[in-house]
Amino acid sequence: MRDDDQRPSQASTPASNLAARDAAHLWHPYTQMLTRPAPIPIVRGEGIYLYTDDGRRLLDGTSSWWVNIHGHAHPVLNDALAAQARELEHVIFANCTHRPGVELAERLVAVLPSGLTRIFYSDNGSTAVEVAMKMASQYWSNQGQRRRTFITLHHAYHGDTVGAMSASERSVFTQPFSPMLFDVVRAHAPYCYRCPMGLDRSTCRIECLGDDVCPVALSPESWASTLGAQLERLGSDVAAVLVEPMLQGAGGMIVWPAEFLAGVRRLCDQHGVLMIADEVLTGFGRTGRLFACEHANITPDIICLSKAVTGGYLPLGVTAATARIYEAFLSDDRTRTFFHGHSFTGNPLACALAIASLDLVRDTRAVEKVGQLEGWLRRGLEPLASHPSVGDVRVLGGVGIVELVSDKATKAAGGYLDDVGPRLTKAFLDRGVLLRPLGNIVYAMPPYVITEDETAWLTAQMCNVIDEVLGA
Ligand SMILES: *Cc1c(COP(=O)(O)O)cnc(C)c1O
Repeated sequence: MRDDDQRPSQASTPASNLAARDAAHLWHPYTQMLTRPAPIPIVRGEGIYLYTDDGRRLLDGTSSWWVNIHGHAHPVLNDALAAQARELEHVIFANCTHRPGVELAERLVAVLPSGLTRIFYSDNGSTAVEVAMKMASQYWSNQGQRRRTFITLHHAYHGDTVGAMSASERSVFTQPFSPMLFDVVRAHAPYCYRCPMGLDRSTCRIECLGDDVCPVALSPESWASTLGAQLERLGSDVAAVLVEPMLQGAGGMIVWPAEFLAGVRRLCDQHGVLMIADEVLTGFGRTGRLFACEHANITPDIICLSKAVTGGYLPLGVTAATARIYEAFLSDDRTRTFFHGHSFTGNPLACALAIASLDLVRDTRAVEKVGQLEGWLRRGLEPLASHPSVGDVRVLGGVGIVELVSDKATKAAGGYLDDVGPRLTKAFLDRGVLLRPLGNIVYAMPPYVITEDETAWLTAQMCNVIDEVLGA
């Protein structure tokens, strides 16, 4: 109630009064409902723009939480959804099948890193990860091995359900749930700007993998946390190594050198453990390749997809596995069955949209387009590199990232940056841009259909807002 008392119809017309009605009954994700600003009533979307109920236009700078790739209300996707709804909206997927479900599986297998030939559907990114972890665990138990350990990386984010949350880096977001979480083993991520091994980027040989040659072996404490060392130590108890290839998203938009990704695959092979690639964010072109694993030409044993899979229209999770994983579940013994499923597994509407979205990715040369976008983002954000409050500017595919610091020399990010996110968000909104910084990380991740001029305008707003809020 407090919200609508304080901000009567500030962001909505009296006619709809959506913000006030929202305040009466809704509970929003990741939102402190007591102190939040009034929510923005969106009545329409078209292309890269969203329209508010008081007629303002906002550029959707983060693709509506990283899901949209072809723009809002795309006519091809609208038609695919309507056509499928007229035919079959949903049916149980345990003992039935349907054309969109089969066709999407065929289409995915054709474009995924080669070897990923089995498709398991679920509902969202977190469930795609839960499914992958359960698959990996049972893969071993079906062969009479109990492997209890998952290795994940620092700064990881894999979702908000309990398994995915356990795999994610511990933070203020997971702290209240710590009694529910299971332990995983953590290894260094190649966060080059803040190198966990304290190395200089120019001399780095990706030592965070823990190669024998690592000079930091002199410092046993940090070396013990490398992926190589963890695998050496835990070896046959490890079910899988779970990583976000090339771009760790919610944990700080950390961009990897491709060599690290190749190294993860190599180490998993050496130690005989499974590799799970969480491409929930990176899948379908976001990093400038259709899948981020292509940057190192690797095939994980299991891959997790969601977010952009339906073009940003409907929730759908996909967990794809190799034949080797799948075959470990084939048995006359019923207990080897993969006992997992959801009411909406294989929803035909979501599958039909995913097929139509794959058509668009092909027909619009979307991956090439993201390659161009990468260049435009680089050019637009480059001036920020010399800004006194900017520690690092990094770009990968369609994601342009600015890491703010309160002290450039020490790379400290505390102090006056603690509450910088909401101030930046407001300044962006005033300029017609919907962006949502992750703490001190300001990033743009627009739908792929953004033009060169629109990208230049968007990056100019990022430069201007950072000047305005943090001083030039
Ligand atoms: C968003 C995200 C998830 C969780 O997906 P939801 O659909 O939000 O549950 C998992 N992994 C990564 C890498 C993500 O970015």
